[in-house]
Amino acid sequence: MNKVCVVTGGTRGIGLATVIAFAKAGYQVVLYGSRKESVEKALSDLKEQNLEAEGKWTDLTDEAAVMKDFEEIKSQYGSLDVVICNAGISDSTPFTDYSVDLFKKVMDLNVVAPYVCAHAAAGIMKEQRNGVILITSSMVAKNGQPSGVAYPVSKFAVNGMVTSLARELGPFGIRVNAAAPGITMTDMVKALPEAMINPMIHAIPLRRIGLPEDIANAFLFLASDQASYITGAILPVDGAMAV
Ligand code: NAD
Repeated sequence: MNKVCVVTGGTRGIGLATVIAFAKAGYQVVLYGSRKESVEKALSDLKEQNLEAEGKWTDLTDEAAVMKDFEEIKSQYGSLDVVICNAGISDSTPFTDYSVDLFKKVMDLNVVAPYVCAHAAAGIMKEQRNGVILITSSMVAKNGQPSGVAYPVSKFAVNGMVTSLARELGPFGIRVNAAAPGITMTDMVKALPEAMINPMIHAIPLRRIGLPEDIANAFLFLASDQASYITGAILPVDGAMAV
């Protein structure tokens, strides 16, 4: 039977590249997006590449709904092997213009959603005595960033979740790790002018912006048996960019 992998934020960018990598590697993939339309668009893009996945647009902060989904996935496909909590939003609002609502919005998707997904997955994986939980962190969880405070706060929190859950869930055969991308060529970065991109490339020792596939490959490795003794790791996938 195929291994089963859930990817949140799987409709574009890093998440979609991860969906493609896991589907190509033979996983049964269930992808999540924020809206029915974007999920259906991702599924039809996959179909054009002869790849299959199931799509969902459940509110990732609704624990009862996510729990129900994961139970259904387990009974439909036989197991829940890998859950990749990747959906996230960034922001660059200056601190003096920040609102509590904006802070909570970023924390909801970047921290509460991975917490909910990890919590829902852990119950099932504990019974299986086997499973992998992966979260997308960021290089900003080294030194923060000069505006948009909730984003680095959320990614420092993700790192705390990963290192803590690795310790708590390890005895049940569950591994918990993160990939921490640097600047990655998603739609947002593609839209930037060359004048902004070139200095960024200069600050990256590997002299290129990361590709979504670079992060997908890191997840594929962290999910695999080749990483069976790796847990609690925050794996930088950033070309050693210094920020
Ligand atoms: P993206 O904006 O291209 O994709 C975001 C995904 O999240 C989409 O699939 C979208 O449907 C989903 N999403 C957005 N809002 C949602 C909501 N409210 N509920 C459910 N799903 C929602 O983003 P990306 O650049 O691919 O980023 C993916 C992850 O990588 C994020 O956690 C981000 O913080 C992290 N990251 C990205 C970069 C980068 O340079 N792109 C760098 C470091 C970390």
